Amino acid sequence: MVLAVVVAGANSLLAGRSTPAPSGQADGAAHEQGLVDGEPAQQQDGQPQTDGEAPPSATDAENGRLDPATLVPIDGGQGTYLLVADAAAAFEDLRASARAAGVEFEINSAYRTYNEQVALAERLGTLDEGGTAAKPGESEHGWGISVDLTLDFEELSWMRANAGDFGFTETVAAEPWHWTYIG
Ligand SMILES: [Zn+2]
Repeated sequence: MVLAVVVAGANSLLAGRSTPAPSGQADGAAHEQGLVDGEPAQQQDGQPQTDGEAPPSATDAENGRLDPATLVPIDGGQGTYLLVADAAAAFEDLRASARAAGVEFEINSAYRTYNEQVALAERLGTLDEGGTAAKPGESEHGWGISVDLTLDFEELSWMRANAGDFGFTETVAAEPWHWTYIG
């Protein structure tokens, strides 16, 4: 009986490590796809590998507080998401090319408002806290240039071979679903 209790407890701990995302809009959903092996993230989601400068298109904006007029809706498959215009146009080109190659994926997350990042950080925890969310104000999602994608291994391989042609790159080593438009 003691063993059973210990095992049940371990399962509870494991379940707690991959908090399900209710609507697949957050990074937690990507964890459920098995693309991560459960090791602690080496970097926060959305934490730029550069020095955190705002992209040129957001020079006068604040992270997570972009002017809605600068954001463009894109169909994510399960919902509609927002990106800044340059990133949205580039993503549509990328997706068209992917589809032409028989590669289909959906979007889990794109632009997040500051308050949405606050909610995500509360749910997943920030890296400082042992979680996987960027601190509010520091996520690339707050600049409207990043997408989280539902990628299986084959789709990820396509992205790694082709996304650069459309200005997208992996900016968070531990998060292969997270792609950012760098132009
Ligand atoms: Zn992301």
